[in-house]
Amino acid sequence: MALQKYPLKWHKDNFSIKIFCSIPNIATGILLKAGENYFVVDPGDGILRDLNNEIGTNQILSISDLFITHGHHDHVGGVWSLLTYMRVMNKQTPLAIHYPKGCIEIESIYNAFKKVYSRSLPYSIKLKEIKSQKIFKTKNVSVKPFPVIHKEFLSDKKITRQVPALGYKFTYDKVNICYGGDTAFCEELVKHAKNSDLAVLEAGHDDNIEDDMHMSMTEAKAIGNSAKKYFLVHVPVD
Ligand SMILES: [Zn+2]
Repeated sequence: MALQKYPLKWHKDNFSIKIFCSIPNIATGILLKAGENYFVVDPGDGILRDLNNEIGTNQILSISDLFITHGHHDHVGGVWSLLTYMRVMNKQTPLAIHYPKGCIEIESIYNAFKKVYSRSLPYSIKLKEIKSQKIFKTKNVSVKPFPVIHKEFLSDKKITRQVPALGYKFTYDKVNICYGGDTAFCEELVKHAKNSDLAVLEAGHDDNIEDDMHMSMTEAKAIGNSAKKYFLVHVPVD
């Protein structure tokens, strides 16, 4: 599969996904539409611009759920502007933010946002820390979170630590999309991507470089081939 140009789009029946972009260290931004409901996954920088172009104000205000795979800036950089836009445009319906247990970035953004705007917020924000792998339902979509392996460097740039990180398998009307977020090769992803209608898989590092943070092209393709269709994302640009 050749490297993809963004945006990437796919749909089956009434379940669709648009990946505005997924560029390591820059930004990710993903929109899901299930029937008439919109959901946003990993709102990185630029998400508001992309959503505004794609669906416009009223539909942005109808978004009920954000799904966060992990707290790195290229996956959460647009959260603040999205929350603020919803406030300015007078969103009336609640917004849930689903995120992996211990993701301090989301909790910090939320706390700062509440501190600044709690007295002028027309909608409620529900922080939904995901503590288990249990399937849950929101609107018309069922969501299966699963743990993945993703790391970051400490300040010495040598030692790494695991960050709270999830992939999600979304199912609507028997159609499913598996998104691994950022991850090294792991069995949980292998299991959930298998037989999915679409697998969105990161291929964040070169085959010949040692890496325990991301998958190589070869690894990602091997998993992708177990799904009915797959996209490779988060591929580094030179
Ligand atoms: Zn990351």
